[in-house]
Amino acid sequence: MDFSEDEIQRYSRHILLREVGGTGQAKLKAARVLVIGAGGLGSPLLLYLAAAGIGTIGVVDDDRVELSNLQRQVAHTTDRIGVPKVESAARAAAALNPEVRVEAHALRLAPGNALDLVSRYDIVCDGTDNFATRFLVADACVLAKRTLVSAAVLRFEGQLSVFKPHQGGPCYRCLYPEPPPPGVVPTCSEAGVLGAVTGVMGTLQATEVLKEILGIGESLSGQLLVWDALAARFRTIRLRPDPSCALCGPNARIKDLTAHGVPAGSACAV
Ligand SMILES: [Zn+2]
Repeated sequence: MDFSEDEIQRYSRHILLREVGGTGQAKLKAARVLVIGAGGLGSPLLLYLAAAGIGTIGVVDDDRVELSNLQRQVAHTTDRIGVPKVESAARAAAALNPEVRVEAHALRLAPGNALDLVSRYDIVCDGTDNFATRFLVADACVLAKRTLVSAAVLRFEGQLSVFKPHQGGPCYRCLYPEPPPPGVVPTCSEAGVLGAVTGVMGTLQATEVLKEILGIGESLSGQLLVWDALAARFRTIRLRPDPSCALCGPNARIKDLTAHGVPAGSACAV
C-alpha cells in the first residue's frame, strides 16, 4: 500500500517501531474496526484508533451529547451538546486525522441489525453500559466469527479482555453465561465512574485492537485484565473455554439472535 509524504510523517513514530514498520502501518490502514458506543470508553478508543491510522472506523450510537457526558466522554465538546454522538465522534476523528474514514451508524444495535453490522468489520469493540447490548454484541461476534475486544468500567474499576473463539480461546458467555437479573449490577449512571478510569480502559482497549491487527505481542484472549484504580493495581485472571458454553461449546444452543429482545433504555455508552 502506498503512503503519501504526509502519511509517512504522520505515522513516522509507528513506522520506526520494528514491530509495526511500513507493513504494519499498511495493515492498520486496511483495517475496519467497529466501535459500539461513543461514550467514556468509545471516546479515547476512537481517538487513538483514528490517530493510529485505522483506515475505516464504524461508530454505533443512538444518543445525543449531554452535559453530564463531558466529565469522561472526551471526544465530545461543550459546543456539541445536543448533537448526535456519532456525528460529534466523526467530527473529532476527522479533526485529528482526515485520512481516516468514519462510518457513523446513528442507531441502536438490535437483533435485526447486529449480525449484518458486525459482519462488515474485522474487529468489534464493545464500550456499552448495559448487559442486553453486551450479550447481543457477544453473540453476534461469535456467530459472525469476529474478534471482540471488550472493556467495562464501574466506579474505580475496569475490566478488559479479547474474545475470539473462532481462533481458540473462550467467548464472553464462557465468562458470563447469562445476563445478571435486572438491578443486580448497577450501571455507571446509577453508581458513577471516575472519568479518567474510562480513559485508561478505552486506551487499553485501543492498544489491544492495534495488537490484534498487527499480530504482535501476547493477546488478551483467554485472559481478563482487571484494574483497581484506587489500589493502583492491575491483575490478570486466566479464562478457559467452557465446554458447556451455549454459544461456543461443542453443543452450542445459540445459533442466531432470535432469543434477544431489543435492548431497552438508553444505548448507554458508559
Ligand atoms: Zn463460550
